[in-house]
Amino acid sequence: MLKPREVLLLSVREVAESDLLLSFLSPRAGRFLAVAKGGRRSLRRFVNKLEAGHLLRVYLRRGRAGLAPILEAADLLWAPERVRADPRAFALAGYFLELAERSSPPAEGREVFPLLLESLRFLEDHGPSGLLAAFFELRLLGLLGWAPELSRCLGCGAPLLEGGAFFPEKGGVLCRKCAPEGGRPLSARSLALLQGLRRLTLAGLSRVKARPEDLFAVSQALRTFLQGVLDQDIKALKVLEALESSGGVHEARDGGKAVCP
Ligand SMILES: [Zn+2]
Repeated sequence: MLKPREVLLLSVREVAESDLLLSFLSPRAGRFLAVAKGGRRSLRRFVNKLEAGHLLRVYLRRGRAGLAPILEAADLLWAPERVRADPRAFALAGYFLELAERSSPPAEGREVFPLLLESLRFLEDHGPSGLLAAFFELRLLGLLGWAPELSRCLGCGAPLLEGGAFFPEKGGVLCRKCAPEGGRPLSARSLALLQGLRRLTLAGLSRVKARPEDLFAVSQALRTFLQGVLDQDIKALKVLEALESSGGVHEARDGGKAVCP
């Protein structure tokens, strides 16, 4: 038996006849896979435990050479209960989990663990919001070494006082004078929102108010950038954006009557 590990469960896939392939993120070991033998049948051992987003203490034994370890038992340490009952919160949690999984190669992603756990806890306590999504996206980009340059123009180095255009392929913003055609326009207010999000901790997030149009511009820039950096389609993003466009996540907390940060 290996030493017990505290992990977040990122995803669960059915394999073989009754086994489950589990993708875990550990603050010590990074991302790794394990197999729950007979996990689909073995209700007594794993009842209500093996669900994505759960914080678990897992007991593993080594698999055969070159194969994933076997999950023997698991203790449930924390579960986002309210998130499961709210489709918008559930979609946002699914987005965070998929981003964490796709951005963490095997044995990597230790530094993503605290961001993911804190964001899931915040989501459980405060409900879904576009600000939380943008906060997560911006922090994750930073952890991956892709924090966008937001204070100065990438072309001339001038401070971006009047906004500009975000160019994902360049990793930052060009001022109005330097920007060629294209890019994603960011108003001065949207840029101020992004800069504010960079300085904040999660605890400060509930005090931030943003206009929906500014938050939308910020989200579009961050998501285009993230998808470019990861070079992968994020399936959960489609679900999330479908809910957002039907008056979902952005409106949930930001109301439309919000003021500039
Ligand atoms: Zn410039």
